[in-house]
Amino acid sequence: METGGTPVLLYCIDWPRFNANFSDVRIISSIATMQQLAKKWRRVGKRIGFVPTMGYLHAGHMSLVRETRKRVGKAGKVVVSIYVNPTQFGPKEDFSKYPRDLKRDFKLCREAGVDVVFTPGDAEMYPGGTGSRRCESADGPRFDKRGYSTYVVEKKLSQTMEGASRPTHFRGVTTVVAKLFNTVLPEVAVFGAKDWQQAAIIKRMVADLNFPMKIIIVPTLRERDGLAMSSRNKYLEGDLRREATVLWRTIQMAQAAVKKSKVIPAAKLKADLKKLIETEPDARLDYVEFFEPDTLSPVSKVTRGAHLALAVFVGKTRLIDNARL
Ligand code: AMP
Repeated sequence: METGGTPVLLYCIDWPRFNANFSDVRIISSIATMQQLAKKWRRVGKRIGFVPTMGYLHAGHMSLVRETRKRVGKAGKVVVSIYVNPTQFGPKEDFSKYPRDLKRDFKLCREAGVDVVFTPGDAEMYPGGTGSRRCESADGPRFDKRGYSTYVVEKKLSQTMEGASRPTHFRGVTTVVAKLFNTVLPEVAVFGAKDWQQAAIIKRMVADLNFPMKIIIVPTLRERDGLAMSSRNKYLEGDLRREATVLWRTIQMAQAAVKKSKVIPAAKLKADLKKLIETEPDARLDYVEFFEPDTLSPVSKVTRGAHLALAVFVGKTRLIDNARL
């Protein structure tokens, strides 16, 4: 049974002493405290910008933080949430071993001038647990027999690609993001283009459910060899790190093909890209799709301006990437 290591760890930390090293970034783990502070800020006219993350922060995340600061200004407030959300992981996925390093995350946030790092625990986010997972609280397991049962589901954009490969993933994402929005009360939230489909779904949710806020998308930050930055890159050991560049090489090959041929049947381009991916011994294509960037509607003929997204297993690590062609 998975209980998620981080929340337990959080409760073991001696907060006042630990916090002393990070005096200018406030760390809040209580939902009520975060909500009260956000309401107070709003009352006095502070602009609140928000970056939801699962932690193990890298330069990609920090580019979102910089954009957020730009949007809210010096006088505004920047909140980064760090929460490895159990409901967006499938039962056989890497929830329990997802990389975590809160101390380093806090340091990065402090250096970036973040005002609050919000680190809610499972017991408060999903009181009573979510059926498949128990949620431990500070004072031991606390079960509400009824369990948590309210979810936000986007019905259209979440059917393809990540949604097809990970059936309950987006339900978990939209649910947790809606809960975080209701807690942090931001007027602007910043997401990465790295998770293109996720960003499209969040925009849709915000429009459909009338969240009074703006969603900003920031470009994907890459390593020097083109690999998109990701917390999961930590899993890539030995040859796998080099093999992982195949996602970027696939994107480049597709971009070059579209530039050269102007119009290419999607099926033909897919087959060519699959061949490239298969040249790496540990790489296995999950999907590669071409689609309209805003609607995510698949295109059968690939032309300039179409979007490509792909998911590839490199060893046991599943990586995703996307780009405009
Ligand atoms: P995660 O912690 O993976 O859930 O990501 C939190 C946010 O950071 C999401 O909006 C991601 O799209 C964004 N993000 C992750 N990796 C990158 C990257 N390489 N460049 C830009 N944004 C990113």
